[in-house]
Amino acid sequence: MKSILLLCSLIYAAHSWANLHLAPPDFNIPEGRAVFVDMTHAHHGIVFDAGKRRTTATSTIQFTVTKPGMPIFDLVPTPSLVEINGQPVDQKLISLPGNESKVRVALQPLAIGTHTLKVVNQIKENVGYTIFRNVKAAFWIRDLKDRLFWEQYLPVNLEFDQHARVMDIELKGRKIHTQVVHANGKVTKTGKNAWRIEYPAWYTTSSPYFHTMRKGSRRTQYFNVKSIDGREIPFTVYTFIPWSVSKYSAEARRVFAELEADYGPWMHDSFIAYGAGFGGMEHSGATMTSFAALDHEMLHCYFAKGVMPADGNSGWIDEAIASWRDRGYYRSPTPGVPANLAGRSIYARNTNNQAYAHGSAFLAYLDFLMQDKGGLKAFLRGYFQTYKKTLITTDHFINNLEFFSGLELKQLFLDNVYTPTPEKGDVAVENHFHPAVSEEKLLEAL
Ligand SMILES: [Zn+2]
Repeated sequence: MKSILLLCSLIYAAHSWANLHLAPPDFNIPEGRAVFVDMTHAHHGIVFDAGKRRTTATSTIQFTVTKPGMPIFDLVPTPSLVEINGQPVDQKLISLPGNESKVRVALQPLAIGTHTLKVVNQIKENVGYTIFRNVKAAFWIRDLKDRLFWEQYLPVNLEFDQHARVMDIELKGRKIHTQVVHANGKVTKTGKNAWRIEYPAWYTTSSPYFHTMRKGSRRTQYFNVKSIDGREIPFTVYTFIPWSVSKYSAEARRVFAELEADYGPWMHDSFIAYGAGFGGMEHSGATMTSFAALDHEMLHCYFAKGVMPADGNSGWIDEAIASWRDRGYYRSPTPGVPANLAGRSIYARNTNNQAYAHGSAFLAYLDFLMQDKGGLKAFLRGYFQTYKKTLITTDHFINNLEFFSGLELKQLFLDNVYTPTPEKGDVAVENHFHPAVSEEKLLEAL
């Protein structure tokens, strides 16, 4: 027993350290060296005060520093307090090299070792209070634009980091709460007006789903769907338009069966679909989506939120796969138009929106090249089953494709997905599965 426990702790330790090699390079700022860190656990206490119409988050994050320097984290709202190891410190919003994106850095040089970061901030995005003191909030994300993962709401790391997070929710300023919490973690009611959500340790900052609202404000169906591995998977389907809920549920069942047949058992503990009637964005085993994009987002529960991209240069892979499925997994004898899907700045955090058209055309050509090995879908099935719950990069994808096919593919990738394109080429046609959504529309959907 002891040896087993020891082995487990070693594996755990190895896992919690494993991702820092996927972080972009550290860099200098006028105050010193800014370093990427490995977050190992995050606790977020969020108070929704319906009386004051104010949402306050207090986060405590354990992290490990492997190279001395000032720790990098991200949070879009300006924090009102930042402490490291119990001491208040200044923080600063800085540009990543090449102005590719922005992050925050705590202006406190740290030694190698484990440390604690405490951050207090207000949350304004996608939170609503009604005149009846009802609370509604959703921590939705987008991936085509920069800094729209959970950094919109809470202090987080970049997408390369996987760690456990616990979120305690409290509703204040209203006596009676008949509230519902939808989340892709373990939800426990901890008090009359309090809930705890425990998210799995393999989640990244683009994985968690959270949506809370007054009970009864959305038509909701709860049912189980049996996986091919025998598990009963709980589905929660709720919609903005009440009478469309059965339509979404039926489509979710259909796509679930299709995807399990193609790629293997559903890897998530549940599935949540909010049929908002617009948009389309995937979380791990959850989505907020239009009806037309529901199948596309469910594919992402295998590729994007099952096998997960480590950074903005890897995000094209899952969009290419999802779009290739949208287009009927077609086979093409030519690779299509080259694009710079994977060769942007090493600090890029968003997905290039050329991934849909150019990426799927490229996969159609890979399918053509691999037809005597069963085609690309045969590869993807094995790739998903081997690397689910882990992070991948374009290099990882290439190496595994070469191993599977026996083909030399590096030059083909250099010529087709690392190809610099003119500036205007980067402003690609908007994808109808992930259209840009206005703030007003998001608030209305809460
Ligand atoms: Zn997509």
